[in-house]
Amino acid sequence: MPLSSRRTGKHEDLLQPSGAASKGRTSHMSVKIAEMQKFFGLEVTGSVDQETLQVMMKPRCGVPDVAQYSTFGEGLKWQKNQLTYRIVNYTPDMSQAEVDEVIEKALQVWARVTPLRFTRINSGEADIMVSFGTGSHGDFYPFDGPDGTLAHAFAPSPGIGGDAHFDDDEFFTFRSTNGYVLFLVAAHEFGHSLGLSHSNDPGALMYPTYSYQDPNTFVLPKDDVDGIQSLYGPNTDVIPDKSNPTPPATPNACDPSLVLDAVSTLRGENIFFKKSFFWRISGSSQSEQHLIKSFWPEAPDNIDAAYENTAQDKVFLIKDQKVWALFGYDLVKGYPKSLSSMGLPTTVKKISAALYDQKTVKYVCSYDERRKTMDKGYPKLVEQGFPGVSGKITAAFQYRGMTYLFSGTRVIEYSPTSKKVTRVLNNGYFFQC
Ligand SMILES: [Zn+2]
Ligand SMILES: [Zn+2]
Repeated sequence: MPLSSRRTGKHEDLLQPSGAASKGRTSHMSVKIAEMQKFFGLEVTGSVDQETLQVMMKPRCGVPDVAQYSTFGEGLKWQKNQLTYRIVNYTPDMSQAEVDEVIEKALQVWARVTPLRFTRINSGEADIMVSFGTGSHGDFYPFDGPDGTLAHAFAPSPGIGGDAHFDDDEFFTFRSTNGYVLFLVAAHEFGHSLGLSHSNDPGALMYPTYSYQDPNTFVLPKDDVDGIQSLYGPNTDVIPDKSNPTPPATPNACDPSLVLDAVSTLRGENIFFKKSFFWRISGSSQSEQHLIKSFWPEAPDNIDAAYENTAQDKVFLIKDQKVWALFGYDLVKGYPKSLSSMGLPTTVKKISAALYDQKTVKYVCSYDERRKTMDKGYPKLVEQGFPGVSGKITAAFQYRGMTYLFSGTRVIEYSPTSKKVTRVLNNGYFFQC
């Protein structure tokens, strides 16, 4: 299955309208087959026929809407837990020792959470044959040159099944943002080699588009763990400890306990930040969730505050003592800068939408963008800044003439004209939960 690069990530979309589902009672297995047939645009019969088998043997792509994670079905998993792999050839982009290490590490991502074990062999036919190639490379699914498809892999089965091919027209790296991190690409492809299809969870490793993250701190997300364990079960060898960190779950906009990190507008859209993700909502359309790094690879996660300066057409992200500037979907050169470069006193240690000093006394930050200084008399205590509003403000933005102050899970709608709280809402108000 091709893993696509970020910018040119136009993977084939083979989604079919949901009306094509099979009718009547069907077994779990035939439901899975039917889903797959629907997904790949085949006649939905719920049983494996010649055409379905042919499609199963193709490296393929597309985002299913049937679930979060998605598998090729019980019939397309390894029927054994001891698997072999072989590195057939190498990329010139990295040293051989680095490639060896990365491939081993990428397989361990899956071994850590399942009973699957991988043994390297150096000759003969392994279950998972790992190779690098360009253009036509012997399987009738030629690569496409730089970017676009980065690699593909075949679902579990004898012969070519399980094999992972990497497009050597890409520049693969050990951990740099300059190029594609081989570990991330390989870990994704091995998910296919083991029987996982793509996930529509934007935080999942099995999400179809590549997005940079530091391989040293990578932890397999919960969606992928759930997916692979649905096929092979959990790893019974290891007791969870520090070396088995909790798989990160993608934040859910409709979780009533969700506390947003920051909110902002961006060219008429509303954006809501949480951990390494953001949602964007334009008008009354459904929210879209993305990894921050899939849009701005150099932007920070877990930001403190964000605001838009519409006159400059920039969005500023604040984290700790630094500020980043976004111009649309580009990061402005020369950033991050220090908070003091914005005219903020050095006593300011933390900004949310409110800001508070070292003693964490709560203040509302009022900052004059035009004069590039703090407004006179500010920061002010929250109670003084917004009559009727108390508590720590975790995020704030203005929308359709009203000020929205996010305080934990509550959203306080404040009228700047009447200087009164008009409504108390929750996040669901924006996300149409
Ligand atoms: Zn893929
Ligand atoms: Zn291939």
